[in-house]
Amino acid sequence: MNATELKKWLGADAAGDPTARIVRLLSQKGSLSAAEIARELNLAKSTVSSALVGLRASGMVVNAGQPAVRPQVGTGRPATTLSLNPSAGACVGVLVCDNYIRVVMADVSHAILDEDRCEMPIDYSPEAAARATHALVKNMCKRCDVRHEALLGVGVAVPGPVRPDTGQVLRASVVPTWAGLDIRGPFEAAFDLPIFADNESNCAAIAEMTWGAAVGFDDFVYFKIDTGIGGAIVVNRRIVAGRAGGAGEFGHMSVNPSGDLCLCGGRGCLELYAGFEGVLRHAARVHGPEISIAEVVGLAQSGNVGCRRLIADAGEAAGHGLALIGTTFNPPLIVIGGRGALAGELVLAPLRAAYERFALIKNSEMPAEAQTRIIPGAFLTNDSGLGAVGLVLRYHGRLASG
Ligand SMILES: [Zn+2]
Repeated sequence: MNATELKKWLGADAAGDPTARIVRLLSQKGSLSAAEIARELNLAKSTVSSALVGLRASGMVVNAGQPAVRPQVGTGRPATTLSLNPSAGACVGVLVCDNYIRVVMADVSHAILDEDRCEMPIDYSPEAAARATHALVKNMCKRCDVRHEALLGVGVAVPGPVRPDTGQVLRASVVPTWAGLDIRGPFEAAFDLPIFADNESNCAAIAEMTWGAAVGFDDFVYFKIDTGIGGAIVVNRRIVAGRAGGAGEFGHMSVNPSGDLCLCGGRGCLELYAGFEGVLRHAARVHGPEISIAEVVGLAQSGNVGCRRLIADAGEAAGHGLALIGTTFNPPLIVIGGRGALAGELVLAPLRAAYERFALIKNSEMPAEAQTRIIPGAFLTNDSGLGAVGLVLRYHGRLASG
């Protein structure tokens, strides 16, 4: 059992084989019981059992250890769950930000092996990002005793919409010079591995549906409240990318046609009212220019009236924007991510109230099973980096087969 064998099962030629389907499912989900595998793949239990005998004999599948990232909540876990052999391969997730790069390495059983980051100069090039990532990964491989041949791929989370078919970054508000470039090219040159790229909020949604707050939901909306506002729409456990990769850019829905100018060139975008950049700008007038999201949240939680007001106003604006999305999709679940959600009920209560006021379908008029749940995400500070790993685990087999 080694990475070559795993790549064979994840590759195009093996697509319809029940054994390959089990390997792909475990790659996507981490750990499952035999009964869950049969149910997910709609295979007879006997077919799953005989395929598992072969996979166990080759060492490709082993009994799962502790849940890798976070225990699943809600339903009780069955006694014996299976995962891919952790030594069968590893994946790299990269989050590119305006002045730093963060890298996460996980094995195929979904256990996080290592995390690291490095500072970057302002307006760095994609080639510089690929080189810096490669240097970080080289050190991580050494620390974790992972050979380069065991790496299955690199997922890159980008702060802007990415065209799914070409990897082209459409608009890059954080790193403006990247707009129009195929982000995969420089990373492919540096790594000689399959590269998967997606918008950071789409990656965050993948993290929440793979390990976090949206486990078990086929459809949900992910709404990120950070300095800006981002989002993702998940239908049938697939990210809705849109024709050009621009779906889910909730922050740039214009909610006030005569409002202020936004960085995107529009006016009155939701992010101007619900994003924490505005919260920080106002808070800075009282608490100094260096104040961070965590500090505003901390002040609010310790009773500071001004910070509470700012966070409540942002939450209310977010709820109003979400009501437009809710009226369009009527989703069963909305996951609120980003550092803004660290404020907990201080932001969520006004958000839920505004959603209830402006959405057509009101939870108060629905029985419990028909209501839209609005809950915080499980990974508020590292969801995009984790999701970039999830991108590889999730899409490796699918994209390899075209
Ligand atoms: Zn805008």
